[in-house]
Amino acid sequence: MKHFILSLLQIKENNIDCTNTTVEEISHKGIKSLFITAKLTYIPTHCPDCGCMNAEYSIVKNGTRASRITLPHISGLPAFLKLTKQRYLCKDCGHSFTAETPIVEKYCHISTRTRQWIAHQCDQRLTEKYISEMASVSTTTVRRVIEETAHAIRQRPTHTLPAHLCFDEFKSVKSVDTAMSFIFCDAVSHRVIDIVEDRKQYALTRYFLRYDRSVRHKVKTVTVDMYAPYFHVIQACFPKAKIIIDKFHLVQALNRELNRTRIQVMNQYRHRDRPLYNKFKRYWKLLLKPPNHLTRTEYKKYRLFSEWKSTDSIAQYLLNVDETLNANYDYAHALSDALRQGHMEQFKALIQTSHAAPLSPGMRRVLRTFKKYAPHIEQTLHYPKLTNGPLEGINNSIKALKRVAFGYRNFAHFRDRILLMTRLYQPEIKRAPNSRKAS
Ligand SMILES: [Zn+2]
Repeated sequence: MKHFILSLLQIKENNIDCTNTTVEEISHKGIKSLFITAKLTYIPTHCPDCGCMNAEYSIVKNGTRASRITLPHISGLPAFLKLTKQRYLCKDCGHSFTAETPIVEKYCHISTRTRQWIAHQCDQRLTEKYISEMASVSTTTVRRVIEETAHAIRQRPTHTLPAHLCFDEFKSVKSVDTAMSFIFCDAVSHRVIDIVEDRKQYALTRYFLRYDRSVRHKVKTVTVDMYAPYFHVIQACFPKAKIIIDKFHLVQALNRELNRTRIQVMNQYRHRDRPLYNKFKRYWKLLLKPPNHLTRTEYKKYRLFSEWKSTDSIAQYLLNVDETLNANYDYAHALSDALRQGHMEQFKALIQTSHAAPLSPGMRRVLRTFKKYAPHIEQTLHYPKLTNGPLEGINNSIKALKRVAFGYRNFAHFRDRILLMTRLYQPEIKRAPNSRKAS
C-alpha cells in the first residue's frame, strides 16, 4: 500500500511514513476532493539553528505540525496531502524546528509538482483563471508562477545575439503608446529573444545599445517589413548587418494596390452598369492570382456570364475594361514573379520602364518605395530562406492568446505569458540559412 500510493503520487521521498495512510473523499470548499494522509519523520543530522552535529543526543522529537499540501488533480478530483510533519527540539540551543521535504518548499503549501504543472499549462493558449481552477489554487498563485518562470527564462541583454534576426511588431495592450509593441527573434532557430514595449525609434535604439558593441557587430542580417524607423535603428545599432525586406510584405504591397485599383474601377460602374459592377465584385480573387494559376483550356458555365468562360478569360474581360487596371495588373504580377523567381535584374528593369506605363498613383508610390529600398530587396533575393514567416506565425499565436483571455491590461503580464508560450518548450534548432549565391 505504501509504495503504491507514493508511486501513484510520484513522490520520491523516503522520509514519508505511509503505514497509516488513508485516502478519503471530503468536500473541500463545496467540491468533492481527495485527502491522503501521511506522516513526515526522520532523524535529523544536525540542528539548523546552532548547527550542532551531535544530533543523536541533543535533538529530540517534540510534537507534530499538521499541513495541507495541494497536489495536482487525481482522477478529475482536487487532491490534497494531509502531511503531519515532525517537530524537533534542540536541547543545546533550545530552538525547535520542523521536518522539511523536497515535495513542498518551506513556508509553502502548494507542492512543487503543482507549480511545475502550472508552468507547463502556461505555454498553452489558456486563461490564468482556467489554469487556477484546474490546479485548485488562486489566480495570484498562477500569476506568481508565471512571473518566476518567465524571469528565469528571460535572456539578460549584453549577453549574445544570433547572427540572423527578424524584427516585427504586434498589437499590444492599450497602455502602450500607439498600442504596438516590438518583438524580435532568431531567424534560424525561430526562438523569440525579447519583446520591447515601445517600437519607436528612440526606444529601440536605447534598447539595443545595451548590448555590447562586439555582440552587435556580429549580427549579419536583419529581416524587417517596410517600417521606416527599423532602418535607422539597424544603421545605428547593427552597422555591419545587411537589411532584408520580407518578401511577403513586398508582394502584399503590390496586391493591396492592385486590389485598391480594382475597387476604384468597380465603383465607377456602381450606378452606370450594375452587371459589370457585380462581375468586378464577385471575381476579385482572379485578379490577385498569379496569371499562370488561371485556367486557359477549361471552359465552364459561370454565374454572371451568359457564355462559357475559363478563369483566364474572365480576368481578361475585367482587365479590358480599364487601361490603368490592366497596366497595374501586368506590373504587379511581373514584379511578384521576379521576386518569386529571384531575378533581380528583371525586377530593376521593370521599375525602370514603369514611367511609360499608365499606372495608378498608388502603384507609382509602391514602385517608388521599391526603388528606394532596392539594395535591401536585393538582399531579400540573396537570402531566400530568411523571412519574417516565423514571427508572423508567433504573432498569430499572440493574437489567439489575447483573444482567449479577453485582452490584457498589463504589458508585463502579457510579455511574461508570450515568453513562456514561445520559449519554454521550443522545438529544436531549425535549418541553417543558405543564400542563393555562395556568400
Ligand atoms: Zn540547536
